[in-house]
Amino acid sequence: MTTSSSYPVSPGPSATLALPRIAVLATGGTIAGAAADVTNTSGYQAGVVGVDQLLSAVPALSTVARIAPEQIASIDSKDMALPLWTTVAQRVNTLLAADDVDGVVITHGTDTLEETAYLLHLTVKSDKPVVLTAAMRPASALSADGPLNLLNAVTVAAHAAARGQGVLVAFNNRIHSARDVVKTSTYAVDAFQSPEIGALGWVQDGRVDIQRAVVRAHTLTSEFSIGTAWPAVEIVASYAGVSRVAVDALVAAGVRGIVVAGTGNGSIHQALQQALAEAASRGVAVVRSSRVGSGHVMRNGAAADDALGFVSAGALNPYKTRVLLMLALAAGVTGAAALQKVFDTY
Ligand code: ASP
Repeated sequence: MTTSSSYPVSPGPSATLALPRIAVLATGGTIAGAAADVTNTSGYQAGVVGVDQLLSAVPALSTVARIAPEQIASIDSKDMALPLWTTVAQRVNTLLAADDVDGVVITHGTDTLEETAYLLHLTVKSDKPVVLTAAMRPASALSADGPLNLLNAVTVAAHAAARGQGVLVAFNNRIHSARDVVKTSTYAVDAFQSPEIGALGWVQDGRVDIQRAVVRAHTLTSEFSIGTAWPAVEIVASYAGVSRVAVDALVAAGVRGIVVAGTGNGSIHQALQQALAEAASRGVAVVRSSRVGSGHVMRNGAAADDALGFVSAGALNPYKTRVLLMLALAAGVTGAAALQKVFDTY
């Protein structure tokens, strides 16, 4: 649909001034990882290479955008914490509200990238581009994928076609919506997919092509805002021989919501279902998602949601379901009917 030409050899001073201004927020991850040996792609330390070093490894960035780097965290994203989510989302909103920022790129670990991306998709109050990227190989590795992913992410964020698309993920030449994208490989460089629906488009050699749009509510049409209150929501899984111990412990601990990674179409083992129905009757929000990895969970498809007081998550995986449920509960949405409306909208 929309394309731009390949990178110029050198932009020249007047062309440089016309380039979009992109803030690059670094949070850590494998893209900022380092190992003692170039052949080591699994035994490295994530989040140790600073944002300036990441940027200097990609000289072509200067032909795409004027970059303002910020090191907002230096973590392995497996350790992403709720207060840091608040910090990142607030910072992105502050940056995008400024006239001299045209877009934001966030470098992130791959492990929880899809959760952070979806959180921002629902809480960024701007139609300026926000693009997350990451890497499967540390910065020190042979054929590290981070530099090209970073260049592609900035290229997307600097492109007019990315505006109004919600939060995007640029990874391995593809452009995904934050709503759909999931990590699907523990090791492969092509580690992110949008199951069922597919990527929004692609980025290659400076060309950006976005071929479809996201129709569910996000960013400026989202009713949710970032705050500092994070209602306790946990995830339980259904599997052969599961007991009700985890659900009972969570209810006793006072959780506000439980997401179920159900089997198949969000179906739940009868032992777990009984415990969850009791939890729902005591005011705990219970949302059925699926552990399958693609497809969607139909309301009343596999369990009698109306009778049990359950909500179905549609196509969101359990981790994104938890993000949306936390935001909805923090915004004061309560009751299965109102929560179902939220899951049918976002
Ligand atoms: N554990 C790393 C992280 O999520 C994995 C990666 O970035 O690929 O930070």
